[in-house]
Amino acid sequence: MSNREEMPLDVLFVGGGPANLAGAIHLFQLAQEKGLEIEIGLIDKGDTIGAHSLSGAIMDPKALKELMPDYEDKGCPIERSDCKDEFYYLTPTGKLAVPYTPSYMHNDGCHIISLSKFTRWLGGIAEEMGIMVFPGFSGTEVLYAEDGKTVTGVATGDKGVDKDGKQKGTFEPGVDLTARVTVFGEGSKGSLMREVGKKLNIFSDRMPQVFETAIKEVIELPEDNAFLSSPTTVVHTFGHPLGLDTKGGGFLYKMKDNRVSLGLVVGLDYEDAGLEPYEAFIRYKRHPLIADIIQGGKVLQQGAKTLAAGGYYTLPKLAVDGAVFVGDSASMLNIQRLKGVHTAMKSGMLAAETIIEAFEADDCSEQVLKGYEAKVRSSWINDELYAARNFTQALGKKGIGKFIHIGAQYVTGGRGIVDPMDIDKDSGTLKSGSGSPAGESLSYDGELYVDKLTGVYLSGTRHEEDQPCHLQILDMDICLNQCRETYQNPCTRFCPGQVYELEEEGGLRLKLNPSNCLHCKTCEIKDPYENIIWTCPEGGGGPNYSIV
Ligand code: SF4
Repeated sequence: MSNREEMPLDVLFVGGGPANLAGAIHLFQLAQEKGLEIEIGLIDKGDTIGAHSLSGAIMDPKALKELMPDYEDKGCPIERSDCKDEFYYLTPTGKLAVPYTPSYMHNDGCHIISLSKFTRWLGGIAEEMGIMVFPGFSGTEVLYAEDGKTVTGVATGDKGVDKDGKQKGTFEPGVDLTARVTVFGEGSKGSLMREVGKKLNIFSDRMPQVFETAIKEVIELPEDNAFLSSPTTVVHTFGHPLGLDTKGGGFLYKMKDNRVSLGLVVGLDYEDAGLEPYEAFIRYKRHPLIADIIQGGKVLQQGAKTLAAGGYYTLPKLAVDGAVFVGDSASMLNIQRLKGVHTAMKSGMLAAETIIEAFEADDCSEQVLKGYEAKVRSSWINDELYAARNFTQALGKKGIGKFIHIGAQYVTGGRGIVDPMDIDKDSGTLKSGSGSPAGESLSYDGELYVDKLTGVYLSGTRHEEDQPCHLQILDMDICLNQCRETYQNPCTRFCPGQVYELEEEGGLRLKLNPSNCLHCKTCEIKDPYENIIWTCPEGGGGPNYSIV
């Protein structure tokens, strides 16, 4: 740490997703209006802004309209705006059209976007304004004042350190980025959020943070594909391959240029240790409804990420001395609407409005920054999340029980039969002895149906190979003994990047391939012994999404 430079800023945004980009842009706009000079910096661990952004995504433009009413004139990359929804329940080979969908599922007035393109566009606007945008920098440590509780910034990781922790010829020390206010918008299950959360108790007295994991592809279809000329642009499904006892469902959105965006979301409260979300995704693609639509297509890009699904009752404390928490980091996603870009952006903008007040008062303590939480609570974010406050819990119910809860919530404005409904931590739900992968093995053709490693290749993922492993196994004995006996090492199945492999030849060992890591964080969330800690690898590594 001795050679580290310090770079003082006024406000530091950690993470280059929609929450922080909207927050940084809005802060700049407000500072200009008020004649304040505020130095704003933003870091992101991806090689470029957008490289780590992946989402469905149908975006409600509500927040974007508030931020930038002329967004279309400014070249916002919209795939389509003609959202025509269809909703199906899938059996293994059949489909049943759902005749009625609740209003929160309707997508009129929304845009189908690629989140990686969208965030890249926002990043460009931020840079043009004069915000210092630094992609390729991982925040690895939260900095505190001497009182041990005031956040003063973030340290970025050293570059050029080898597997054994020794400096290479390319060594570059990290930088201490200090700021009067740090905005954490790391996305789902942020590694700095984990640390700051523990130290400053921002998650205490809340229900546990819970997540879903999604695998997504962009597929190019042949020009004569029938779906391209059909009026349908949005397909949502539930049922097969997850059935009614596992939370989750599939989506398919029509994009520009003969492309579709296809994905499967799996709730990480699943019980079957044999479940492999990647295989479930391939089974989903093989269902006749989807297989017919994507016939003749070719996968252009694939990726995976988790999404924070807990909502209202899992929202952490939103401000501490010197810092605020926004977007997915703060569980702002509306799982009922399957949307989080608009709530993330709005949270960033409300944080910006509070930061301006803090600068005007010359006081960046929690006393002033907690005004951000009050703003969230009196905004439309709160209205949306409150109406969906028991939704993730209802989805987690088995069989048709979930529909009874969802129906009751629909007619009672979210209250339902029990309010609040409890939430179980994702790491605690696997059933022992259920770790055998089910079903016949799947076939891959390398074009439309690709295996995990081809998927990793198609995500553009790369890491510097000679660096310390960013996945920490706290106790390898647990992996090779208790976890193997009780759950048959589910990490080898729930990881979409084939990072964990159990090798039996020459003695049992768990082999890690950290270079394949897609940064989805599923392993840290779902490991039944909470034995895996995901830390930030050297900045600039990871996926390189451009169209998902
Ligand atoms: Fe996701 Fe963990 Fe696998 Fe990386 S190692 S791809 S974070 S499950």
